[in-house]
Amino acid sequence: MVAQTIPVDDFDLVIIGGTGDLAKRKILPSLYRRVCAGQMPENARIIAAARSDFSQQDYKDFIRQALEDFVKSKKRNKKKIETFLERLTYIKLDATGIEGWKELSQSLRAGAVHAFYFSVGPSLFAPLAERLMKHKITDENTRIVVEKPFGRDLASAQSLNAVLARCFREDQIFRIDHYLGKETVQNLMALRFANALFEPLWNSQHIDHVQITVSESLGVEGRGAYYDKSGAMRDMMQNHLMQLFCLTAMEPPAVFDAASVRDEKLKVIKALDPILEGDMVRGQYRSDENGDSYQNESGNPASTTESYIALKANLSNWRWVGTPFYLRTGKKLRNRMSEIAIVFKDPPHSIFEDSQDLKGNVLTIRLQPDEGINLSMTIKEPGPGGMRLTEVPLDMSFADALGEDEADMPDAYERLIMDVIRGNQTLFMRGDEVEAAWAWVDPIIKAWEKSGAKPAQYDPGSNGPDDSLMLLHKDGRRWREIT
Ligand code: NAP
Repeated sequence: MVAQTIPVDDFDLVIIGGTGDLAKRKILPSLYRRVCAGQMPENARIIAAARSDFSQQDYKDFIRQALEDFVKSKKRNKKKIETFLERLTYIKLDATGIEGWKELSQSLRAGAVHAFYFSVGPSLFAPLAERLMKHKITDENTRIVVEKPFGRDLASAQSLNAVLARCFREDQIFRIDHYLGKETVQNLMALRFANALFEPLWNSQHIDHVQITVSESLGVEGRGAYYDKSGAMRDMMQNHLMQLFCLTAMEPPAVFDAASVRDEKLKVIKALDPILEGDMVRGQYRSDENGDSYQNESGNPASTTESYIALKANLSNWRWVGTPFYLRTGKKLRNRMSEIAIVFKDPPHSIFEDSQDLKGNVLTIRLQPDEGINLSMTIKEPGPGGMRLTEVPLDMSFADALGEDEADMPDAYERLIMDVIRGNQTLFMRGDEVEAAWAWVDPIIKAWEKSGAKPAQYDPGSNGPDDSLMLLHKDGRRWREIT
């Protein structure tokens, strides 16, 4: 199947933080792939800005190397790389000083969409918005893209929203959560709302519970100092897992547009019950055979920051009351794996002798690795000798279904950056949504900070702390394997 590519309007995209890790690993490789896909208009330009000294040629060489490092070899084409590099300009600019702003202002073309990607540390988001205004670089068609983390609690998110609102209309602000750009996550919406099969079953009458897992096999690596101030709750749960949860639990929007989808997601967050003390487990990985514990890697030997969190979330609304959502995320676990598993109820009565093997169906939406959708079914074991039952998967791996090239699915950032240029906010978070998520998470964080409780220890390469098994065990359920 050949992907359809609709070219976007002419644009000037300014990446502030153009020398940083995200720009190098994700943003610029994604833009290169969009050039290859024929989606970028011929005149579209990318202006990278940061404080480092780079000549135009040095910056192009720097990005040529980044493409070498972060674009798969079969997607690298010398001629296309040079075409891409021709669109690049570097400006030395200080987000908090005076250097570079005049040059930036002069470099923007009238008539093109102007988008500013804030790919800098979060302390610079507000100053950048204010500088853009002060230097009169923006107009009513300007868009800004704000990276995560959007605040570290409700108060800081509100204060950042307030600064942005003084400078821009809400429809100019694109708060990015790259999970929403993942093909499978969008497929979750297609699966639910473009098929009549599942929606009648998508409620507490038929669904026993839902498990959402985002598991990483790596530790904090070089991000230890940053991560230690954040932890799994702020770094993953409040944003990525919460977004997956909202898309799974929300009502069908009346239309597929930004306002309707975001209204429905907000209603989900607002229907969340407060978390009870026994419905949450915090963990921290202990030393592996090399002596690399979380505390060593974070550079804080007394750290009580969690590298793992699991919780049971309940929704008080008609659709979901009585069906818990178990969410977990952590570092240095058994495998790198992200999935949403919808566990259906067992059949109410078995007519088969083999009934102890009768299991509820599980619909799994796999985000990584091997993006795809799987439905486990119980069938008759083939062959004579009675009616023995067995479980088999109905598997739709995107790689198999859509052909080899399609399996090389666009990175989330490709889709999201093109949506920014189109002005489509459906896959971005609205200000009130982010605040509602913090309003739910804040009391949980405050309660454990007040208690001074230490996180439970777990072995690197395990499924997380033993206490997390109990979280489901006491409800007569068990976590799915992290495979
Ligand atoms: P990074 O590697 O530290 O890069 C920061 C960038 O900001 C550099 O280009 C730096 O360049 C520039 N910068 C710093 N101070 C500046 C100033 N005063 N004026 C202008 N530019 C300035 O950080 P990153 O990993 O790319 O992350 C960028 C943002 O994306 C952060 O908010 C992060 O939380 C978020 N994010 C990153 C990732 C990731 O995978 N890296 C993933 C999700 C979200 P100079 O030093 O040359 O000025």
